[in-house]
Amino acid sequence: MSFEPPRLNKRITLSEAMGKWGWPNPPLKSNYEILLGDGCDAACLFCCAYREIGKWLPLESVKRDILREKARGTQMITFSGGEPGIYPRLAEAAAFARNSGFRLIQMVSNGLKLSDPEFAGRMAGAGLNLAKISIHGVNAATHDYLTGRKGAFEKALTAVNNLNRLGIYTSTNMALTRVNYRQLPLYVKFFHEEMALSGFCFYFSFYTGRMAADQDLQVPYSEVLPYVRHTLEYMRLRRIGIDWKVLGNFLPCLMPEYANLMMDWGAASVADTKASVRKKGGSFTSMEFMEKRKIKPASCRGCVYYSACYGVDARYCERFGTAEFRPVKEKPRAFPLRPVY
Ligand code: SF4
Repeated sequence: MSFEPPRLNKRITLSEAMGKWGWPNPPLKSNYEILLGDGCDAACLFCCAYREIGKWLPLESVKRDILREKARGTQMITFSGGEPGIYPRLAEAAAFARNSGFRLIQMVSNGLKLSDPEFAGRMAGAGLNLAKISIHGVNAATHDYLTGRKGAFEKALTAVNNLNRLGIYTSTNMALTRVNYRQLPLYVKFFHEEMALSGFCFYFSFYTGRMAADQDLQVPYSEVLPYVRHTLEYMRLRRIGIDWKVLGNFLPCLMPEYANLMMDWGAASVADTKASVRKKGGSFTSMEFMEKRKIKPASCRGCVYYSACYGVDARYCERFGTAEFRPVKEKPRAFPLRPVY
């Protein structure tokens, strides 16, 4: 029997969410991401994490982080993992963040747990008001294959529907691999028209963990870029608003006109980075976190983005070389899509 996606419905708009939750005016100045542990209830073929099931950050440690970040003036708390939905004390952690004064409380999730309306309702009651659901294709054949879980696509769509119904601002993440990158334009069309979403993040997969071992998933940037351009042009023509930056693990030199839509670059120094990450063993700014995985090829010298670029995934370079990364001499005019935050 084929699965009929739940149709919605209306979702909360960004301006409604800002008013309802008291979110700060854009741009967002700071986000602190708490990686609660590496445990996950999916088995994604491209997963770049090293899974240590059951090793969670203690709640007391999470609470200490939240209080410290509040005192520092951090604006947003993000719970991720692994899969934060299976962290045993997630609702308590979210409620603690809300009661500590955070107005932006996000969860990055595969949606398996959030497909349960009771769990989704509990998270809404605890203060969750922003969710990114990882969906890696436009159909069950693609998403279930990539996540290693039969029924995952149906559950992810049900999670989006639950979140929309609860008034939680929801968007999707898509990890780009050889299996799914050609679906990009259809992906946006489907999730915008059928699921009422406008927030998307397209993340070029890191070549660590399982992704580094699976050559069938690996694809060079140059094959993916035409599909990204086509998708962004579609979004522009359809006037699909962009809430946050949409391109993850892309380098400005690959498509300089779209650099303003890329995350993972832009800070001139570690102290200037907007986002921080908490993982077992310490806290890092996102720039420090990325620098551990990235290198700057010798060919980068003279690039106008050099000081603000975090570099290229080192393992990607081992696989495909560095010829795609050519220094940019002059910044071009930006593509006319602007992220709100
Ligand atoms: S510094 Fe290197 S990797 Fe970064 S944008 Fe410039 S050429 Fe590309």
